[in-house]
Amino acid sequence: MESVSLSSRLNKAVRQQYMSLPQDGKCQVTYIWIDGTGEGLRNKTRTLNEEPKSIEDIPEWNFDGSSTYQSEGSNSDMYLIPVCMFRDPFTLDPNKLVLCEVLKYNRLPTVCFLETNHRASCKKVMEKVKEYAIWFGMEQEYTLLGTDKYPFGWPTNGYPAPQGPYYCGVGADNAYGRDIVECHYKACLYAGVNIYGTNAEVMPSQWEFQVGPCEGIDMGDHLWVARFLLHRVCEDFGVVATMDPKPMKGNWNGAGCHTNVSTMDMREEGGLQYIEQAIEKLGKRHCEHIKVYDPRGGQDNIRRLTGHHETSSINDFSAGVANRGSSIRIPRQVGQEKKGYFEDRRPAANCDPYAVTKAIAVTCLLNKEEEEEIE
Ligand code: ADP
Ligand code: MN
Ligand code: MN
Ligand code: MN
Repeated sequence: MESVSLSSRLNKAVRQQYMSLPQDGKCQVTYIWIDGTGEGLRNKTRTLNEEPKSIEDIPEWNFDGSSTYQSEGSNSDMYLIPVCMFRDPFTLDPNKLVLCEVLKYNRLPTVCFLETNHRASCKKVMEKVKEYAIWFGMEQEYTLLGTDKYPFGWPTNGYPAPQGPYYCGVGADNAYGRDIVECHYKACLYAGVNIYGTNAEVMPSQWEFQVGPCEGIDMGDHLWVARFLLHRVCEDFGVVATMDPKPMKGNWNGAGCHTNVSTMDMREEGGLQYIEQAIEKLGKRHCEHIKVYDPRGGQDNIRRLTGHHETSSINDFSAGVANRGSSIRIPRQVGQEKKGYFEDRRPAANCDPYAVTKAIAVTCLLNKEEEEEIE
């Protein structure tokens, strides 16, 4: 069975003729938003008469929320509020991609089928903790699937050789689908997404890219756009990227979204004591964090956080220097230099980065009164 989509095999030379036509000063702007599943991304495009110079030049827009699991049909007009602008690596300059927040008819954040606008409350928290200059870096793991929903490049009847040679591997027998990884990386750089790096993962067809360091709300904005770019690049190649935290049962690694964190205090001389204080606070609220580290209150992550395959158990909180089997890892170099950042290894690959970074900032940096003020 063919595992690459039909669309990906349309004639790309014909496409190129049209893509290189001049556009007479007009600008195509693609609005991107998170749908009612809290995981899916949607987009639609309109023409502006001039190239927008900043986010303020991009008008609000709307869409039919009853088709995205975001509202009932009887009251379905939703607002798209542009929040962050990038260059479009697919149709090229002067065209733009713009990430949007979704507001419902009464201009409040959407809280329909699933509460999917986590950005609004995340932004409030990030404004409150601004003085700490909190930085995040997230490691997005994902798995490539064929259109048959089976990992890309795996034999149709059976399994590839066991894990071992694939992590950071090279060669046709080790690296499955590198074209996508390299094209996505270039697309991120062109767009202006703060991509930090990329590597092949432990399970064949599983890869990772990192975004960051990003301050405050930028973390969620840049990761969501990086995810959009990944899905869009995969579409061109006719395969699918899944963020499922455990796509294959058995002796195969799951997929996480390790979240690296530092404040100005932690980055400065002797910062390790602030890292230890933050970890102490995180330990007291383990269960609360697990609830927001995947879109289903921990139900997805439970398949991944088993205590095996470089994970900690979902039921326990632990921390350690250079320990990849703990909830929180202090990188070896940070332990030696006594300053830097820590890594929260619990978030699932399909987490909402706004929900994750918000929870970490609240737990580590706000006191009870300040926390109540934002709720
Ligand atoms: P790992 O060794 O866990 O696989 P990676 O190299 O994949 O680590 O990712 C490191 C991540 O840490 C990147 O996303 C990067 O942006 C982030 N990072 C680096 N320095 C800091 C810092 N001071 N504060 C927060 N995040 C940081
Ligand atoms: Mn990594
Ligand atoms: Mn990894
Ligand atoms: Mn990591």
